[in-house]
Amino acid sequence: MSNNLSNEIWRNLELLPFCVLLYDANENIFKVNSQAQDLFGLRNKSHFNKIDFSHITLTNHHSKKELLVEELFFDYFTANNQCQFVLSKQVSKLLLNVKFAKLPNSSSIIIIDVLNNNVDEQYDFDNIISNISTDLIDIQNDDVDKHINYALKAIGTVCHADRSYLFKFAEDGKTINNTHEWVNNDIQAFKEDLQNLPKSDLPYFFSLMARTHLFRVNDVTSLPIQAMSEKTIFQRQKIKSVLCIGLRYDKELVGFIGCDCVVQKRNWTDLDLIRLRLVGEMLANAFKNLNYKQELQQAQQQLINANHKLNKQVNTDGLTNIANRRCFDQTLKCEIKRGARNKEPISLIMCDIDFFKRYNDNYGHQLGDEVLKKVAKALHDLCKREGDLAARFGGEEFSIILPAVDTDHCQRFAVLIQEKIAELAIEHNFSSASNYLTLSIGFYSLIPNQKTTPKEVITNADIALYNAKEAGRNKIASFKKTD
Ligand code: GH3
Ligand code: MG
Ligand code: MG
Repeated sequence: MSNNLSNEIWRNLELLPFCVLLYDANENIFKVNSQAQDLFGLRNKSHFNKIDFSHITLTNHHSKKELLVEELFFDYFTANNQCQFVLSKQVSKLLLNVKFAKLPNSSSIIIIDVLNNNVDEQYDFDNIISNISTDLIDIQNDDVDKHINYALKAIGTVCHADRSYLFKFAEDGKTINNTHEWVNNDIQAFKEDLQNLPKSDLPYFFSLMARTHLFRVNDVTSLPIQAMSEKTIFQRQKIKSVLCIGLRYDKELVGFIGCDCVVQKRNWTDLDLIRLRLVGEMLANAFKNLNYKQELQQAQQQLINANHKLNKQVNTDGLTNIANRRCFDQTLKCEIKRGARNKEPISLIMCDIDFFKRYNDNYGHQLGDEVLKKVAKALHDLCKREGDLAARFGGEEFSIILPAVDTDHCQRFAVLIQEKIAELAIEHNFSSASNYLTLSIGFYSLIPNQKTTPKEVITNADIALYNAKEAGRNKIASFKKTD
């Protein structure tokens, strides 16, 4: 290549907006454009010799093998004329895409694109992203804030921002709330001031958001005249550059995340945008999952409550609100089995209101119902131990199951019942037993065995009740085997 031609080509190459190195085989010199000089930290000169590159080593990004820059020009590239290298600078590692082309007369040219600013940073970010996504997949309501704060710090740091934040739209769709914020050291936080902010205060911002889900401003001072309101708000927060992306939930915009630069302006890179989008999508997905989970939990809870209610209903007597016959039958069966297993006693009390027909006839059925409720409550209140059960057996007859209660104990309990009913002092002027409402009580206490049946226990308690009636009513009788 003649010197003239070389110079001619070079004048054009100098103008290109990427790094160019040219080897002039005729002169055995290298030409390096200003971008490449900056990249390799070379002094500005018209041409260079091999020795000028001797301090610069590149590492093949894939094979990890090291080589000197000059080697790129001599038989390094064979079939593939493109390769990626890492250039280690003082504090960072740059990923370079290097393209090679042969020129006439054994000269050659190398063009270098800087792919990203910091390989380590990319590596860190990949790590952070994988952590965040793992955390967010199975997110629980109680640690959601922690993960959002972590994600904001990560995105704020890698985008070299001073502040990063999450805004969510309020349910009315008219206001926004800054729910989470990360700020770098010595940077003022604004979260508290940014609650219930009307969307109408940021018309330009939201018209862009609605259309593109993106708001990317390198220099707030260059915002157009329609963005006066935004400019004022941003400048009050000393924001120089701002980058926000919308969060969508089933295609609907539900909020946004963003980064601000306060200390100095930033020309947001495509990588910044890709990273912010990635974090935004992960957060939006996490919210969606969380929402599904909450809806599912709510539905489950409703089902459990409904089931609980139903269970209660089928086991409760409608008038008196204590256990009904169905519940009584089930409980008695279980307690007999338990008593047999543990060789523990069990007592069954049957009580029947004395002369209740006369009560109804004279005071009316409605007052009769009130009496049944009062008696039921009194019996229920006496059942204080776990396992005791007062039930409406039918009509004006009640039964009480007392596990682990023997004859003597049951006798004392029956007396308590009579005292409690006496305390109610329900006037019954048509009873032949007293002027007040009374009960006749029969009970049966036994240590059940495998053969004991509920029917037999009920029958015996009933016999005792019959005996109490026979003895003049308002009496207590216990079933004895000789009965
Ligand atoms: P005894 O002392 O022999 O038990 O006489 P009694 O009148 O209480 O017995 P009887 O079996 O002759 O009458 C029971 C009464 O209980 C008749 C019935 O109207 C009344 N009764 C049953 N269930 C209800 C109810 O749900 N509400 C009301 N108000 N009365 C009821
Ligand atoms: Mg009766
Ligand atoms: Mg009766």
